[in-house]
Amino acid sequence: MDHLPDGVVQYTVRFPEPWTHYAVIEATMPVSPGAQEAEVFMAVWTPGSYLIREYARHVEAVVVTDGTGRGLPFGKSRKNRWRIRTDGAEKIHFSYRLYCREMSVRTNWVEDSFALLNGAPSFVTLVGGQHLPHEVRLVLPDVWKYSASGLAASADGLAHCYTAPDYDTLVDSPLLAGNPVVRKFEVDGIPHYLVNQGEEAGWDGERATADLRTIVERYRLMWGPLPYEKYVFLNLITESGGGLEHANSVCMMTNRWSTSTRKAYLSWLSLASHEYLHVWNVKRLRPVELGPFDYENENPTRSLWVAEGITDYYAPLMLRRAGLSTQQEYLTGSEGSGGGLSGVIHTLQTTPGRLVHSAEQASLDAWIKLYRPDENSANTTISYYTKGTVVGWLLDARIRKATDGAKSLDDVMLLAYARYSGEAGYTPEDFEAVAEEVAGVPLGEFFRRAVESTEELDYAEALEWFGLRFKAVSGAARKAWLGADTKVDNGRLVVSKVLRGTPAYVFGINVDDEILAIDEYRVRADQFAKRLENYRPGQQVSVLVARREKLLRVDMTLGEEPGKPWHLEVLPNASEEQKKNLLVWLG
Ligand SMILES: [Zn+2]
Repeated sequence: MDHLPDGVVQYTVRFPEPWTHYAVIEATMPVSPGAQEAEVFMAVWTPGSYLIREYARHVEAVVVTDGTGRGLPFGKSRKNRWRIRTDGAEKIHFSYRLYCREMSVRTNWVEDSFALLNGAPSFVTLVGGQHLPHEVRLVLPDVWKYSASGLAASADGLAHCYTAPDYDTLVDSPLLAGNPVVRKFEVDGIPHYLVNQGEEAGWDGERATADLRTIVERYRLMWGPLPYEKYVFLNLITESGGGLEHANSVCMMTNRWSTSTRKAYLSWLSLASHEYLHVWNVKRLRPVELGPFDYENENPTRSLWVAEGITDYYAPLMLRRAGLSTQQEYLTGSEGSGGGLSGVIHTLQTTPGRLVHSAEQASLDAWIKLYRPDENSANTTISYYTKGTVVGWLLDARIRKATDGAKSLDDVMLLAYARYSGEAGYTPEDFEAVAEEVAGVPLGEFFRRAVESTEELDYAEALEWFGLRFKAVSGAARKAWLGADTKVDNGRLVVSKVLRGTPAYVFGINVDDEILAIDEYRVRADQFAKRLENYRPGQQVSVLVARREKLLRVDMTLGEEPGKPWHLEVLPNASEEQKKNLLVWLG
């Protein structure tokens, strides 16, 4: 067996023409003593984002030398690997140009004003050398003055030089360079940075910083001492969206209006709360399959409903507990959003995929379902974010009731963290056992039904414990309904989604059908909803559609538009005990 290489992997990253979206990277890597060959790879996916993305497709102009200018022969050995004949060299210099123009939290972007580099899509490393220290030196264009990362500054103190103890840490630490607006606050003496790339007048960075501090302090109260030496919120105001968690940083994307309205701001805070909770749930307390990562293949796990779903349960709940949102906003969303916990339950209960795909299956299939959505996704799967949130809530209620209010899901997360964080990781069975230990009652049937099966969830216990109910729908509001989602495409009214069980599904309206008329009367694209107001549920109609340019009539019976039966409200006659339970839960 070859000796593993010793030494350091070093990268120099330059942006000679950033407006062309290229970074030029030179990697210097040690060669194992006596080895005739070395192999270099680039990751095919980014941890936290469960899709094979084939990052090597953005690599070009590879040149390999021994550091003295002598070229070394090399070739591709796999789609994402290069094999190099080292010919006695002690080091290899592997340089390449990297195209960086995908605006997302898990990929790269380079332009004239800034660069975002994520580890997985940027840095090749040695096969067998992931344990080595990895150092990055960014050479910035003169007009860029700042860089930020969760990585530690290199020991020599040079500007824009960072060091990672290993490849995993490098991959887990996105780098931002440019001229962001940076604000700092401390909790327990630990520095936290809000790094706003693209902040302009109107984006309220001062308020966001104050509220992030409140969030950090509230989580500190729940989890105990902060498990990092610094934390960086990279917040790219780039008219994009999403967030990706890291051990001591996060990359978020948002738009210039996200502090402008209450609804948008709560949504941004909730994203920050979600990503920040991952400091514990997933980055340190992780499913056993999610580490050490295999960067060249899928890493499926049955536990994303815990890792993402329970995180999504807590994200807005902790905003409420921290006083950043109201009880009403938590339960039903801010004005006009129709969201909150009610919105999540509504999404679950109106997604037919919940009846064919369990929370565990949805977790396992993230790589081929949630991350590869198509027009049939809602029929074939359920998001583990959505179902995990609701299961988290029901589990929380179950534990509170079983312990007469003495324990909650918080205690499950804390005990799991104490027992399985770090190298260990938990199996689904471990997590269930911890929940049972906290609840003090058997939970096998709960987990079988809520997590492993596609049976409908039972809300009765949670509603009763917290003194809540689903608001009744008034009969007067009932409207005729086709059941197909539509979009307006170049002035045409086109079917975009057909949910199982709806009239459209039953009678054969298809995705991509263009709806032209109901009975003998033309429907204009922007008048569809208004036209349906003239019909009653149960009425027979003939819908004229164009399908691949051919005109067809679909005879059908209109259904009844579902109201909002999943809208939570507090029982008007809630008991003192129920009021107390609600208060303890929501703070
Ligand atoms: Zn997440």
